Amino acid sequence: MTYKISKTDDDWKKQLTTNQFKICRKKDTERPFTGIYNDCKEKGTYNCLCCDAELFSSDTKFDSGSGWPSFFKSLDNENIEYVKDTSYGMERIEVNCKQCGSHLGHVFDDGPQPTNQRYCINSASLDLKKS
Ligand SMILES: [Zn+2]
Repeated sequence: MTYKISKTDDDWKKQLTTNQFKICRKKDTERPFTGIYNDCKEKGTYNCLCCDAELFSSDTKFDSGSGWPSFFKSLDNENIEYVKDTSYGMERIEVNCKQCGSHLGHVFDDGPQPTNQRYCINSASLDLKKS
């Protein structure tokens, strides 16, 4: 997979904090209940921290109790890439930014109506543009 926005690890390191780099570029997961957007109720659009692509609306954010920001739907703009992830002996769907390949989190099918989807996303991968 090649992405529209492609940078070397060194370039990403200049742009991101160590924690953000590990999560966005190395697929790490932030500890639950530690991210800045877990409890956030502000209105706006959640963009990709790395490349500013629009990913989620605050209108689809819900409190899943998981400790990570959760959305039942992504924005309809094809900025999300879905990849089967079989690490840790589990079969999950990893979600990445389609523009730059940044790791966002995973999507599960135990979310609320109307989609039944639960996008479980690292705060560190997101940048809220308040509306
Ligand atoms: Zn991106």
